[in-house]
Amino acid sequence: MASKKKVSASVEPVQGYVEGVAKSLVDRIYGPNGLPWGTRLTELEDVILAVRQTLTEEMLKQALQRQAQTNSDRPEPYRGCPGCQGPVEPRPDPEPRNVQTRVGEAEWDEPNEYCRKCRQAFFPSEQESGD
Ligand SMILES: [Zn+2]
Repeated sequence: MASKKKVSASVEPVQGYVEGVAKSLVDRIYGPNGLPWGTRLTELEDVILAVRQTLTEEMLKQALQRQAQTNSDRPEPYRGCPGCQGPVEPRPDPEPRNVQTRVGEAEWDEPNEYCRKCRQAFFPSEQESGD
């Protein structure tokens, strides 16, 4: 898992962009005067939670789907079977993945592979074998 320092360093370059997106979202959702008078704070919270969920799930999907598309070019340490490090056979079609993460549901398509020795199919993005 990435350390907090490492995470901050990867987010820092886009911090200004994210702040601009937040400003733009408030403009688009509420207009130039912001939250209409009389709106309850819980209503604002609900809108923000919905936006956050969309952003989160789209980022999960984009990051994982793009990684899956580079499957055949993955570096050497990630090429073997996660169980025995032996050779694996690619399977023809990507399969839909659906994983519950700490920040929401991740959905993407990923090619899986098979190890004859372990008699296990697995997804290259996972450290542990499974099916
Ligand atoms: Zn194996």
